[in-house]
Amino acid sequence: MIGLLALLAAAPEFRVEIDPSVGPEWRPAVETACAEVDRALEAEAEPLVFRSVRVQQAASFEELLRQGGRSRFEVAVYRDRTIWLAPPEVLGKTFDVAAILRHECAHAGLRARAVPALPILVEEAAVMMLAGQTGRLPPGSPILAGELSEVERRARQPADRAALETALARAHATFGAALLKARQERRLLAFLREVAGEKAYLSRFR
Ligand SMILES: [Zn+2]
Repeated sequence: MIGLLALLAAAPEFRVEIDPSVGPEWRPAVETACAEVDRALEAEAEPLVFRSVRVQQAASFEELLRQGGRSRFEVAVYRDRTIWLAPPEVLGKTFDVAAILRHECAHAGLRARAVPALPILVEEAAVMMLAGQTGRLPPGSPILAGELSEVERRARQPADRAALETALARAHATFGAALLKARQERRLLAFLREVAGEKAYLSRFR
């Protein structure tokens, strides 16, 4: 009985449904990544509004762009309860795939816990924190109010990888400390919901 209870407690609340398109070499990595992020988010003890994410692997980079609707500098994208992965020949050459998978699982985890889509820079800052990616960012200066829409545009449509990394580094420099504090106080999700509903959200991070 105790053994059964332990098993039930260990069962992940949030399931990963892996499509046959996903190469076998990526499957355990996706499972592990989403389980790690789920554990981090479970600290806030909030109910799930949906309980699973689907994972598909694009057959070509063009398919990833079409399905994911993001820039050419991203090799995985979360969209509509699905994580899209770049084709094996691209993903196989990518540095630190585990962190990228945690990143996409974190987007899914926020949506699954009723956090609406956030302003892109706050969303990415929160997700990078949950994925443990902030240590590798280049140095970035905090975003001033007058620059916000331009930095948002660069994060959405970067000219190159460096431009994307700079925008993300600046997002972390601007939002990271407040997000970390909210996470430590186990009210990250509530805080993000407040931000989502606010037009002048930058003022919350001063
Ligand atoms: Zn992202």
